[in-house]
Amino acid sequence: MGDRIFLSSPHMSDEGYEIQYIKEAFDTNWIAPLGENVNEFENELAAKVGSKAAAALSSGTAAIHLALRAAGVGEGDIVFCPTLTFSATANPIIYQNAIPVFIDSDYETWNMCPKALEEAFEKYPEVKAVIVVHLYGLSANMDKIMEICKKHNVAVIEDAAESLGTYYKGQHTGTFGDYGIFSFNGNKIITTSGGGMLVSNNEEKIAKARFWATQSRDQARHYQHSELGFNYRMSNVVAGIGRGQLKVLDKRVEKKNYILEFYKRELGELEGVEFMPSNEWDEPNYWLSSMTLSGKVRPIDVMEALEKENIESRPVWKPMHMQPFFEKYDFVGTNVSEKLFENGVCLPSDTKMTDADLERVVKIVKGLWLK
Ligand SMILES: *Cc1c(COP(=O)(O)O)cnc(C)c1O
Repeated sequence: MGDRIFLSSPHMSDEGYEIQYIKEAFDTNWIAPLGENVNEFENELAAKVGSKAAAALSSGTAAIHLALRAAGVGEGDIVFCPTLTFSATANPIIYQNAIPVFIDSDYETWNMCPKALEEAFEKYPEVKAVIVVHLYGLSANMDKIMEICKKHNVAVIEDAAESLGTYYKGQHTGTFGDYGIFSFNGNKIITTSGGGMLVSNNEEKIAKARFWATQSRDQARHYQHSELGFNYRMSNVVAGIGRGQLKVLDKRVEKKNYILEFYKRELGELEGVEFMPSNEWDEPNYWLSSMTLSGKVRPIDVMEALEKENIESRPVWKPMHMQPFFEKYDFVGTNVSEKLFENGVCLPSDTKMTDADLERVVKIVKGLWLK
């Protein structure tokens, strides 16, 4: 059996940028808390995506949680959330004792369906905030979604955890709404081993988020707290990894594009295969190369055949309204996300893959159509 091929695993720079920044942190004994790497990682990421301010946090989930707090979401408030996503998008709504209402996808983007969103506004005009996700690095239909949200004057939070490096009409995802969040978890396009970032053009709100993230310590010599606090800040060592990784982000996006093109060329003509959508407005990072299968070969066949050869793959996210924990909450839409879950499969998209690795995957997958 060949070496294991991963879906998406950490890929440090060949140049050793990350270790250099970590070394600086060690040399100055700024291991923690905070320090220059944290400040510079915030500045560099904000500049990269074109946002005025950023707060480096312990995870993308923490960033979503603080975005909800900054948007004033509290007990009993309704928050619209895409149903087709990772549970980390929805969990912070529950942390705030708020109520998620799940919104269906469309086939055009796999992301939040603007029509279903409008329907949800009719049903719940009192909604407090909308979370939009850019799944697998594909942009949601931002013009339509922002137009609808502006009409209803509601806060928008973009979960761009999977879309660092993705541009919609030339503007970076995560910068359309009031708040955007990014994740540097181990399987994301770049990683800090674990971490997240909250971005916004509202510098006051970002300062407030930093305050909450460091236990809400008031300006006083003694420890004084007038608000609930959290321990959500990123460490200076972790931020050093992030600074190094940010230098190779464009290269990683290029490789992810190469991987998808490779699969499309080799597998695109097989019966029932359709690759993730492309739209003229979208420059995706193609975090995970994904396809749907409508013929006799099913996603489970692909996943089992690959696993037998030590290759990782996985289904498209299971919709939140189908999850035991979330099924009691309302869902607006038809069956698009359910179909994407039923028919979707994510192929290994690790940026360390060689052409020989890609050939190995393609050969196994193609073989299923010859049976
Ligand atoms: C990874 C991910 C998150 C959570 O990020 P963490 O840094 O792991 O907390 C949130 N939303 C989506 C869509 C993700 O893929």
